[in-house]
Amino acid sequence: MAWDHTTFLIQVALNHLGATPLLRTDGIDGPRTQSAKALQFQELNRSAASRFKNFKHFTSNKGGAIHPIGVVFHHTAGSFVGSLEWCKDPEAKVSYHVIIEKDGSRHQLVPFNRRAWANGKSSFNGRTGCNGFMISIAFSESTYDRELTTLEIESAKELIEQLKKSINLKFENITDHRTISPGRKNDLNPIEFKRLQNALEPIFKL
Ligand SMILES: [Zn+2]
Repeated sequence: MAWDHTTFLIQVALNHLGATPLLRTDGIDGPRTQSAKALQFQELNRSAASRFKNFKHFTSNKGGAIHPIGVVFHHTAGSFVGSLEWCKDPEAKVSYHVIIEKDGSRHQLVPFNRRAWANGKSSFNGRTGCNGFMISIAFSESTYDRELTTLEIESAKELIEQLKKSINLKFENITDHRTISPGRKNDLNPIEFKRLQNALEPIFKL
């Protein structure tokens, strides 16, 4: 308890000095928000050994720095190619951090430490504006029209394993668009999201 209180006082002092190492502000690009760790996981896909192909298509559809605490899964509803082109179009003002193709290939549009424009009006655990603190990962087409392929699920699992090493990711902080924007969005199909959760849960029991 005494130690906690001391830590708290140090944190207060640091906040006063504007030198807090725990800066949580969203939407600001600056040296304090570009920590070594954040930059490290921006490069995560490039360096991590992967069973799947990783492509970069960085888009202008992105915002300021974020410190993600979780992951939101989506489906794009449209075809893979159409969705990728849509996210690259500045007029669309839409993007995901990653779109996973049916063969498991991952296409990254936004670095993990920048804001993707995926969620719109949304709230997670009482905190609104999920673009400001969540990583968004999409599958193509509609999960109501088809099941997720084994390769898509394996690729998502591999990516979550990598992200877990870079951010303090908890299983409870993996959600979907339907859950954070209830009544407004229906992705994913609950049956498919459950399949995905079942595949991801063992990662967090290691
Ligand atoms: Zn969505």
